[in-house]
Amino acid sequence: MGGQPMFILSEDAERTRGEDAQSSNIQAGKAVAETVRTTLGPRGMDKMLVSDSGDVVITNDGATILEKMDIEHPAAQMIVEVASTQEEEVGDGTTTASVLAGQLLAQAEDLLDDDVHPTTIVEGYHAASQLALDAIDDLVLDEELDDDLLQSVAASSMTGKGTGDINAGALAETVVAAVRHAETGDGIARNDIALRTQTGAGASATELVEGVITEEEPAHAAMPRSVEAANVAVLDLDLDLQEANIDAEYNVTDVSQLEQALDAEEEELAGYADTLVDAGVDVAFVTGDIADRVASVLGKEDVLAVESVSDDDASAIARATGSTTVGSLQDLESADLGHADSIHVESYGGDDLTFVEGGENAETVTLFVRGGTEHVADELERALNDALDVVIAALTEGGVVPGAGATEIAIADAVRSGATSVEGRKQLAVEAFADAVDVLPRTLAENTGLDPIDALVDLRNRHDSEGVAGLISEGQSGNVGDPVDAGVLDPAAVKREAAESATEAATMIARIDDVISSS
Ligand code: ADP
Ligand code: MG
Repeated sequence: MGGQPMFILSEDAERTRGEDAQSSNIQAGKAVAETVRTTLGPRGMDKMLVSDSGDVVITNDGATILEKMDIEHPAAQMIVEVASTQEEEVGDGTTTASVLAGQLLAQAEDLLDDDVHPTTIVEGYHAASQLALDAIDDLVLDEELDDDLLQSVAASSMTGKGTGDINAGALAETVVAAVRHAETGDGIARNDIALRTQTGAGASATELVEGVITEEEPAHAAMPRSVEAANVAVLDLDLDLQEANIDAEYNVTDVSQLEQALDAEEEELAGYADTLVDAGVDVAFVTGDIADRVASVLGKEDVLAVESVSDDDASAIARATGSTTVGSLQDLESADLGHADSIHVESYGGDDLTFVEGGENAETVTLFVRGGTEHVADELERALNDALDVVIAALTEGGVVPGAGATEIAIADAVRSGATSVEGRKQLAVEAFADAVDVLPRTLAENTGLDPIDALVDLRNRHDSEGVAGLISEGQSGNVGDPVDAGVLDPAAVKREAAESATEAATMIARIDDVISSS
């Protein structure tokens, strides 16, 4: 059968092989990591991202930047995945993880140039990553995770983020209060803590609400805007005539028949309202529509009803008030009703928000995030989300480690010492991993306006003499010192996840020697 060429790919398929493939993947991965590098740390800068449609997002958050950048290159996409996995798993450290992944690639490139085989690099990186994880475990502080310490963790995750007219310290107090509120004997359910942003006031007006806030308003002007000690129904239905009824044709031969038909509809609608009143409902949250007729009867009966409630809000309200969501009005029983101490509607500019406070399930809380403009409120929301995640990670996933680059300095040191016991060329890869980790303290120094080489030397010297050394940034400058004393602390889980996911992405990219893209 010789002689005939065999085609296994379609004519338009593109293929890059060997060193070309490797080099192009590595360049792409490095380039992505490079874009977020300047945002690292408290003195990191923000990025302004403009979408096709002109929407603007201003942020310092690594995961958000990479997600909005709409990156197409498949290898670069893997760095974006590092950030998004980091965000999902621990909620912070996205810049750290992607910058580390990029630097691991840069080091791998040098090793490949020196003819170190990709699988040797992969094995060396995995061995180094294990040394790094052990080093992180050794760094975990054995202090009790009290509120003061947790506030430091929350503040460390927010410093450098645009938090408007409020400082990270004050916000940290609110964040820790929210987590403590949601804490039960069984742990902390992250969905017990909601965030709701509303513009029209400075960020310092941000507050903790012990309950749920929904964006909807009363369905009728005659309804009460405030109800105390409320029996609450959550209804996943429309309080309106069925479609079939509305479209039904009436065979009308005289006016009295038409009136009869309309009366029957009126009666049916009024019946809906009566069902709620008879069941003892004071406040109803309805996911569907409420017909005007129903709303006006409810209003007369002093029932507050809110329509078009989102599914998320409805389930949060059901959870907070201890009510059972009912899908059909016939099924409504008084046992389905929940309870809230206070339900009230507040106006913010043109928007009405309904607050459900003091529910039966007192764990549910909402951080009511305020900002002068939407951009400020949105970035503040991202910062608070990170802060909530780090406090929860510290409490539930193995404590905290010194921040400000101190953990990275210690990791690099431990990996370098560990490298001596690794045989052959693999040792070069383990050492390269340690050099890659240095990019993090080096970048913190650069972003603080310090000379990165001098800073690294100072940090290592102090690490050798004191056992811990970070580059603490205060105001306009940075000093080498003890991050624990300065209250700069990160969850151990953030560092672990960053080491693991950066290693995984870098080794995966380094292994590829053939890129086949079908068009
Ligand atoms: P990431 O997306 O990786 O969380 P950040 O921009 O939030 O990136 O920066 C996190 C780093 O900043 C952590 O290493 C943390 O320890 C450090 N950091 C936080 N506060 C300070 C501070 N006051 N001085 C120095 N470093 C700090
Ligand atoms: Mg952070």
